[in-house]
Amino acid sequence: MSIRKKLSGLMKQLFCVILMLIILINTSACSFSMEPMNYPQAKSGNIDLTDWSWEQDGIIPLDGEWEFQWFGSAEPKTMDSNRSNYIQVPGTWDNKVLANGQMIRNQGLGVYSLNIVNQQEGKRLSLRLPNIATAYELYIDDRLEMKRGVVGYDASSSTPYQLPGFVDFEPRTATTSLKLVVSNFDHRKGGLRTAILLGESEQIHRTDRNEISMRFIIIGCLIMIGFYHVGFYLLRRRDMKNLLFSLLCFFVVLRMGVMGDSFLIQWFPSLSWSGAIRMEYILFVLSGWAGYGYFHKMFPREIKRQGFTLFSVSAILLVLSIVVLPPLTFSSLIIVYQIYVLLIGFTILIGLVLARIRRLEGATLEMIGVAGFLFAIVNDMMFYNGIWGIRDLVPYGLLFLILMNSFIIFRRFAHTYERAELLTEQFKDWNNTLEKKIEERTEELHASYRTLEDAKLELERMELSRRLLVSNISHDLRTPITLLQGYLEALRDDVITEEQQRAATIRLMLKKVEVLNVLIQDLFELSVLEARKVDLNIEVLMLGEWKERMIELYSMEMEEKHIQFRCELEEDKIDNVRVSIDIHRMDRVFSNLLYNAIRFTQVGGTIEITFAFDPSDRVVKILLKDSGIGIHPEDLPFIFDRFYRKSDSKVKSSAGSGLGLAIAKEIVELHGGTIQARNAIEGGCIFEIHLPRLDDKEAG
Ligand code: ADP
Repeated sequence: MSIRKKLSGLMKQLFCVILMLIILINTSACSFSMEPMNYPQAKSGNIDLTDWSWEQDGIIPLDGEWEFQWFGSAEPKTMDSNRSNYIQVPGTWDNKVLANGQMIRNQGLGVYSLNIVNQQEGKRLSLRLPNIATAYELYIDDRLEMKRGVVGYDASSSTPYQLPGFVDFEPRTATTSLKLVVSNFDHRKGGLRTAILLGESEQIHRTDRNEISMRFIIIGCLIMIGFYHVGFYLLRRRDMKNLLFSLLCFFVVLRMGVMGDSFLIQWFPSLSWSGAIRMEYILFVLSGWAGYGYFHKMFPREIKRQGFTLFSVSAILLVLSIVVLPPLTFSSLIIVYQIYVLLIGFTILIGLVLARIRRLEGATLEMIGVAGFLFAIVNDMMFYNGIWGIRDLVPYGLLFLILMNSFIIFRRFAHTYERAELLTEQFKDWNNTLEKKIEERTEELHASYRTLEDAKLELERMELSRRLLVSNISHDLRTPITLLQGYLEALRDDVITEEQQRAATIRLMLKKVEVLNVLIQDLFELSVLEARKVDLNIEVLMLGEWKERMIELYSMEMEEKHIQFRCELEEDKIDNVRVSIDIHRMDRVFSNLLYNAIRFTQVGGTIEITFAFDPSDRVVKILLKDSGIGIHPEDLPFIFDRFYRKSDSKVKSSAGSGLGLAIAKEIVELHGGTIQARNAIEGGCIFEIHLPRLDDKEAG
């Protein structure tokens, strides 16, 4: 299954989870705060439950007109004053004016009374008391049944404490009287913010359990997500956004711990009311700060760094104010903290809208998440200011934001996996071809190394031969020149007086000059040939014609030297095999070879030339064999080198320039052929020339 399909499956599941959550939020939010649509309201301090059936109608909020006596901070003479005043429950005191013209403030002491009339007797009922700011005592039929904090007439005599409570009781008569003494000198708002609920014990406790378990599901989720992001952060320290997000989760969880059901207050009874309210406010500010930090790291171009610095400094100041000021003061400043968080929320939202316009990845989902979260914040603010709303939506809002975030994370994971899969495929391919590539590259390297090595050897060889050439030339030129100089000086100084001797000396000198001339001509020819700057004058020649030409050129001379000369074709049929050669240069090759052969062959010896043709490799072979002294095996590898002469000094005297074979080799190679020398078993040496046969096509 492809990643894309898996992803869409995952998205659908997540969508279902969101739907379920929304339903859960609704049910849980409804459990205590959403009242039945039509239920009896208290009037003039009485609530009539004649038509109320616990089984069918369930829990009832004791809302409506409660009798109320206001004492402010004056100690009451008696609780049963007959001044009848009424107050709307739920509701905070908020400088309301009572019917008797008395104005109530948020700080002071008040007594609420309510008669529950016409109720069924003998049922086990429960009252669920919400957080009441900030201390109260509940009397049922004048018996003290529940107490939170210490009720007092001023700040010093009262002790604030908050925790929801339950009172189980069994009405003995049809009318039950409730009396609630409430004092507040520590919080900005006094009175009953939320409803007191009445129901069958079992109903009340079941509903409470449901609400608590729902809250702990949310808390569990937030803690999990928080640790999940801490884990991410520990693995990738550079990624501060994960740390900030986990902080946001933990701050919200802790804040839940000191609000509403206040699990932290239940777990740590030593945690004072003022400590808890400080925590609540500090965590409120810090949640805003962590949220901004997170979104700044996510979209740094849209949600700017300057904003983060500004909000961080403000957070420090606000936290300090909460630590330093008494709860009554800082809770009265709540609007400042709310503005701080709202500013953060809207800055983020604007940044996200910008990111959405710029089509940045994840911007849409984050935008939806933040809008939801912001809605929850505004809801809670309105609720706690007694304006409107459902109690404590922020945790759900955060959960919604987290879910949106999870979509983004899943999408990123999916993209990363896809890329990883692709890369793995590429790596596999690459790996498969890698060995072959390495082999090829190594072979290329070897080849270029060999070329370099050859070039180096060639350079060394050329350098050596250049040095040899220079020394050979100077030697070969100096010797005859020194001789000539000696003869000339002798002639000048009349050392040679005899006419005959003078003539002989001049002849000798002329011979030396001739040798010099030949040497210089050979040198010139060789240098031209080696530089490959010669244009061959190619002619097509049949082997038969070539053979005849050899006989014509050399047979007479051989006869004079008393050497038997043979020149023949290996088979008659090759008579018309054609070669393309520069005839005059080939003559030069053969004259070199033949005069060498004559030089090293005794009178009565033989010299023979054989022309052969091998049709398989289309090569013309010319063998030149003499019955002379042969070549010393030590000399064989070098005889084609320039100026190489036999090391034997006796022979050396009769030697030529030492350039003949070098010139012959150059000419043969210019024709695309090869020349080699070896000794014959029966004595003498053999020179073997191979020339490519002219193709019929080339012959045209
Ligand atoms: P040179 O001008 O000295 O003949 P070459 O290049 O023609 O120079 O020959 C080089 C050497 O090869 C000669 O000096 C000789 O020692 C040896 N050489 C060439 N041809 C023969 C041959 N037919 N028999 C024996 N030695 C030979």
